[in-house]
Amino acid sequence: MPAKIIRIWLLLILSLSAPLSAHPGHDNQKDTIMAEKKWTLVIHGGAGSMERGKLSPEKDAAARAGLTRALEAGSAVLAKGGTAMDAVSAAIMVMEDDENFNAGRGAVFTYKGVNELDASIMDGKTLGAGAVTGARYTKNPILLARAVMEESPHVMLSREGADEFSREQGLEQVNPDYFATPERWRQLEELKAKKLGWYDVDLKYGTVGAVAVDSDGNVAAGTSTGGLTGKRWGRIGDSPIIGAGNYADNRACAISATGAGEFFIRLGIAHEICARMRMLGEDAKTAADHVMKELKLLGGTGGVIVTAPDGTATFSFNTPGMYRGKATSAGEKMVAVYGDE
Ligand code: ASP
Repeated sequence: MPAKIIRIWLLLILSLSAPLSAHPGHDNQKDTIMAEKKWTLVIHGGAGSMERGKLSPEKDAAARAGLTRALEAGSAVLAKGGTAMDAVSAAIMVMEDDENFNAGRGAVFTYKGVNELDASIMDGKTLGAGAVTGARYTKNPILLARAVMEESPHVMLSREGADEFSREQGLEQVNPDYFATPERWRQLEELKAKKLGWYDVDLKYGTVGAVAVDSDGNVAAGTSTGGLTGKRWGRIGDSPIIGAGNYADNRACAISATGAGEFFIRLGIAHEICARMRMLGEDAKTAADHVMKELKLLGGTGGVIVTAPDGTATFSFNTPGMYRGKATSAGEKMVAVYGDE
């Protein structure tokens, strides 16, 4: 074959294979790495009496939109290879800023008509944990809980001390009016007028939480709430209590709880579920369902979200509904409200 024709053949072959050979192996390798980067994010916006027909279409749509935004914020962190801690913080901040949930803006009122905020966060890689209770000025209490974990030698700070620490840390402060909404005020008035118990007010729930596994296999959990409508005497629920409303341990799982906090504290629910998984080898669903059944026997209502380092995740609740959502690296993305979804 003449040399000129051979050259033309060679050029043709090279040009056809150009997209693959321009940076040998690079794109393929990147695709493989991205495909191997598995992550899972699960969120909740509270468990309670949400039933079809009872919840207005507006409230239903607003809750789903808020959950979707929170999932998107957390997923964006994880998809870029970010940490479970950052994803949990990002998802919770969105729900704290959304007045449809009982955390941050839109938190329920105490009996005296103020908003006292509780939050906690835990890193399953280090077992580092931070929590605050009765905070009144920090725009995003989950960031304050995280600052307690990362910037103080303590695990839990309360009330004025937590507020003081928040200011010292330079976290965004707001006038307490920022948290107050007319709907939450109406619920407080209803509780007082009807002399209802703390667990009676319809839709009082709305605590938010998130659990995640990042692409390094680390888990984290966060929870944030205003607590119960009409709470008194400095009452503290399970949400800021590590082991009750929140727990994360790379050896087992990450959990965030919502519901009648006193019962979750008595059973140490979040730690109990992790302990069953770690020591009995139960999967997330078996462990969560078992412990939630025990909660029901005591008379407690609510729910939990759980994820394990292998990416398996579950919801377990004994209320008619739970605002919830899930997103994974495999492209799964769902939000739901009612028990039958
Ligand atoms: N668990 C929260 C508390 O008892 C309330 C809730 O989740 O709705 O403060």
